[in-house]
Amino acid sequence: MINIALLGSGGSMPMPGRFLSSLLMSYKGRKILIDCGEGTQVSMKNMNSGFKSIDMICITHIHGDHIFGLPGLLSTIGNSARTEPITIIGPEGIKDIMNSILTLIPYLPYTINVIENPPPILGISFSTNGLKVEEHSNEDIQMSILELDHSCSCLGYSFYIVRRPKFCVQKAISNQVPKEIWSRLQNGEFIVYGNRIYEPDMVLGEKRKGIKLSYITDTRPINTIPDFINGSDLLICEGTYGDNEDIEKAIKNKHMTFAEAAGLAYKGNVKELLLTHFSPSINEPILYKMNAIEIFQNTTIGYDGFTKELCF
Ligand SMILES: [Zn+2]
Ligand SMILES: [Zn+2]
Repeated sequence: MINIALLGSGGSMPMPGRFLSSLLMSYKGRKILIDCGEGTQVSMKNMNSGFKSIDMICITHIHGDHIFGLPGLLSTIGNSARTEPITIIGPEGIKDIMNSILTLIPYLPYTINVIENPPPILGISFSTNGLKVEEHSNEDIQMSILELDHSCSCLGYSFYIVRRPKFCVQKAISNQVPKEIWSRLQNGEFIVYGNRIYEPDMVLGEKRKGIKLSYITDTRPINTIPDFINGSDLLICEGTYGDNEDIEKAIKNKHMTFAEAAGLAYKGNVKELLLTHFSPSINEPILYKMNAIEIFQNTTIGYDGFTKELCF
């Protein structure tokens, strides 16, 4: 099971009741934060969410509405007595930004590892220090990254939470696997034992479908997105403008209307669309819901504090 909390659903500037871009994913007691706009830590506090277990922060791009919450949040994480390192992933420029931020908060009790311009696929696995990022995909969470089309370098993120196959006793016995190595094989190890090589497949049952979650903001609806988000259980996507008549503004500012985001959800064959990153010019995003629903029925208009549980 994975928990999602939309911490901030605004774009550009904070509004009363609407902080800026931020999403929190919790899985097996560890947390991944995506974007960290102003208000992120206040929103976490409102939701009684702890700070210490944030292991990774993925930044889509370095516009202020996606990063201005970082100094405060990183400082608060320091005050929570965290000593394990934190990984920050982001597009070109993120290292310089982090160096600047760290001059404001040089006293952090943990180190920050920055991955700038990540490769298109990374793996995330559990370690004694929390979640750890690896350069391959055979891990607990497979992470994909896509370059979007915004006014600066901007990344879309997709997470596939792997569901391990069940242990199959009959298979282990018929493959003559010694009992001593059953649990290590179940955990994915390849083992040389006696003079034979044993593989996880020799004790595991059928593959099982995991959970896919995609996060797309800020961008125009480019044609690489539907493939990238294909089959997502949940697509969290920007809908900066609700009104279809704002299409020219959307094109000029490299954003999307609700209808365009819904078009991506439809083409990407996702299960559910959660809209976010609303322009400060929209007081009540819900009033424009029809513009999305006409194209993609299972659309939810996001709000600060929205939560959802995704189950296997
Ligand atoms: Zn933005
Ligand atoms: Zn932006």
